[in-house]
Amino acid sequence: MLVLVINSGSSSLKYQVRDVAAGTVLTEGLIEKIGMGNGGGGDGEIEGPRDHAEALELVDAAIHQELGGLELGAVGHRVVHGGERFAEPVLIDNEITRAIERLNPLAPLHNPANVLGIRAITRKWPDMPQVAVFDTAFHRTLPEHAWRYAVPDELYTNHGIRRYGFHGTSHEYVARRSAALLDLPPEEFDGVIAHLGNGASVTAIRGGQSVDTSMGFTPLEGLVMGTRSGDLDPSILVFLGRAGWTPEDIDSMLNRESGLKGLAGNNDMRTVVEAAESGDAKAAMALAVASYRLAKYIGGYHVAVGGAKALVFTAGIGENSSQFRALVADRLGALGIELDAGLNAKRSREPRVISAPSSAIPVLVVPTDEERAIAEATAAVVGSNR
Ligand code: AMP
Repeated sequence: MLVLVINSGSSSLKYQVRDVAAGTVLTEGLIEKIGMGNGGGGDGEIEGPRDHAEALELVDAAIHQELGGLELGAVGHRVVHGGERFAEPVLIDNEITRAIERLNPLAPLHNPANVLGIRAITRKWPDMPQVAVFDTAFHRTLPEHAWRYAVPDELYTNHGIRRYGFHGTSHEYVARRSAALLDLPPEEFDGVIAHLGNGASVTAIRGGQSVDTSMGFTPLEGLVMGTRSGDLDPSILVFLGRAGWTPEDIDSMLNRESGLKGLAGNNDMRTVVEAAESGDAKAAMALAVASYRLAKYIGGYHVAVGGAKALVFTAGIGENSSQFRALVADRLGALGIELDAGLNAKRSREPRVISAPSSAIPVLVVPTDEERAIAEATAAVVGSNR
């Protein structure tokens, strides 16, 4: 089956056409500046599509040009927030679309854009099966003691304030591939997965299920990220509010100006590592803070899992930065974790072991592929609804 995978943002639409059985990408692209007009009409400025429907026309034209008259079997949407309702990918109908829309307050930047993508497809291809694959769904197995915040119950019952977790599609996919690499059935995999991209989260997996994860009510909680602070004392927000900062000021500072960028002036791990290697003290400190925070989570999740059988690195930094992996592993001696320097330094696109034989548990690098996971889930849901 050919699946069109759509990641619809407020002003962008990312797409891939995938052959699910072959596991290949037939074509892909990114439409940007949706609804932004021509930005002043200066020389060389491209006028963006007016809305998501127009963006979809561009996608359709690009796919046609690349692949001719192929027949799409389904569309799979990356949907950020599935709230408490969605624990699995679902076939979309009007009721499901409205349910996703009702979750808008929980993900005000993302879910409305996801719904625009869904509605654009519904209008253009009314008979096309569409599947929603939720970033939160894999974490619906978190036990209550892991998803509760210790605040008055009314905040949960009236406002849905609890921990949801994100990056679920990636964590689930990487857990399955890690189990395969270790020759285990997925339901016997106990491990800790560190998804380290521009956004970063770590998940505790027990029996193939998520039992804790570092992102919470929003993707801001947890690790030090490219531009997000991760955990901090909530009283800081109260302090800043009293000092005159608006909610928008605080939101922007924590989500866009913090993390590696806040500490080292740059959100790109490659730049920060290079700066640290050439003696930049701020960059070295940023790496120390980020690796220390992650190591603390890994230690905690080792306990949550009841003894991890593997530690797994994935996503842009996890897959590519041998330096950052080494910094984290150096802090995990108490768990008996030991990397093989040669294996860690080797570059490869394949899932692999990078620990020394003497390491208490294997350390793996397993490349993630969220689009592939979405395409596979979409084909499976459509197949089971035939
Ligand atoms: P992602 O969000 O998964 O695309 O990951 C983005 C992050 O991966 C950025 O911080 C990049 O600096 C980092 N990254 C990508 N390639 C490399 C590389 N070769 N070495 C170190 N970091 C990398």
